[in-house]
Amino acid sequence: MQSFDAIVIGAGVIGSSVAYHLARFGARNVLVLERTQIGAGTSTQSSGILRTHYSVIENVELARQSWSVFTDFANYLGDAEASAGLVKCGYLICAPEGLKLDPLRQALEGQRAKGITVDFLDQSTARDLLPIAHFDDAALIGYEPEAGFADAYLVATGFARAARRLGVKIMEGVNVEKLLTENGRVVGVQTAQGTFHSNTVISTQNIWAGDIERWTGISTPVKAERHTVLALEGPEAYSFKMPVFKDLGSPGMLYCRSYGGKQMLVSEGTVGETLAEPDNEQGDIPMDYVAEIGEQVAERFPSFGEAGLASAWTGVYDVTPDWNPVLGRLQGLQGLVVGYGFSGHGFKLSPGVGRVLAQEALGLATDVALAPYALERFSTGQLLTGKYGLGAVS
Ligand SMILES: Cc1cc2nc3c(=O)[nH]c(=O)nc-3n(C[C@H](O)[C@H](O)[C@H](O)COP(=O)(O)OP(=O)(O)OC[C@H]3O[C@@H](n4cnc5c(N)ncnc54)[C@H](O)[C@@H]3O)c2cc1C
Repeated sequence: MQSFDAIVIGAGVIGSSVAYHLARFGARNVLVLERTQIGAGTSTQSSGILRTHYSVIENVELARQSWSVFTDFANYLGDAEASAGLVKCGYLICAPEGLKLDPLRQALEGQRAKGITVDFLDQSTARDLLPIAHFDDAALIGYEPEAGFADAYLVATGFARAARRLGVKIMEGVNVEKLLTENGRVVGVQTAQGTFHSNTVISTQNIWAGDIERWTGISTPVKAERHTVLALEGPEAYSFKMPVFKDLGSPGMLYCRSYGGKQMLVSEGTVGETLAEPDNEQGDIPMDYVAEIGEQVAERFPSFGEAGLASAWTGVYDVTPDWNPVLGRLQGLQGLVVGYGFSGHGFKLSPGVGRVLAQEALGLATDVALAPYALERFSTGQLLTGKYGLGAVS
């Protein structure tokens, strides 16, 4: 039986980031076990949007720390060839009169109170930034210049390569079948390729985190929810210079961004289709659904009334009851650290989450407090529910 200082289950953006940070904080004998390939879980399905805008203030700090990594990725990893594929185009968000207005104002002011640059724009300035849209109904428009989007596959593989350079062993094609425990503590994992020993295991299994409940009996409130992403090509380009846009006024609370410098990537910020079992395979995308989203897009982007569907795909979120992750140790079982339940917004947090989970696993002080993200919040009722409603921005 081989022994390790720590074992990470899963090599998506979160597990790869954890592995890199474990090594960076001094762990020299780290093993990552990935059932398929690095990034091939749900990370490569990500829309990749990066912002610090959150209505749940706890997330703002994690997002801010993560943004500083995305903007300096190669230096941070000490790998001149690493790239996050970052497009720094800013983030525009607007709400009409109504229920979303106060939450938006509070969230923008919350960011400002944390020293983050956020501008309140009038309609004409917003149109200068995003000339393909109109803002006639917008009662409040916020703009975060230090925001944009990046490539989750590049980030996962970037972290993994840097981790390997620091001595981390990453095994792909290895499925963890069971967590091994003795007297209330973790002692290793069982796989078809053998048993690996460690007193520290970090599970970053996303929609497959239900394994934890099966292995330990500890409740894991996470479900798999499928969402659809469309790429539309209209007569006007959605260029890389144009900001990511969040439309709190649309029925689907749509988010959009440039796709390839010309097309528009668009998806809904609402609740998706719950799957009976975790499964990241592609789902059906009915043409009626495409038409419905197209109509919403055309309301905001008039020339997209003539847009065509360039491509479409589905991706699966690991959704918790309050749409925020569970981070940290689990009561009643020593040696297990978890990070799951990112509910469609984990990419932008991945550098910061990797750091804090590695710190927690190594017994170091964490950069941000993990207490708000504890599993116990679902029994105490101290939820991290976002103010725009489930599925939106959190
Ligand atoms: C359509 C879509 C759009 C999104 N858009 C955004 C966005 O714009 N911005 C943003 O911040 N976030 C976004 N997200 C969310 C973000 O992409 C995810 O939160 C993040 O990628 C999750 O990373 P992860 O490492 O937890 O999961 P994954 O990438 O799914 O990694 C988990 C890994 O664990 C492995 N695994 C599971 N069980 C086992 C086992 N027993 N043994 C071995 N390996 C195992 C799996 O194979 C998998 O590779 C989006 C997600 C989707 C689906």
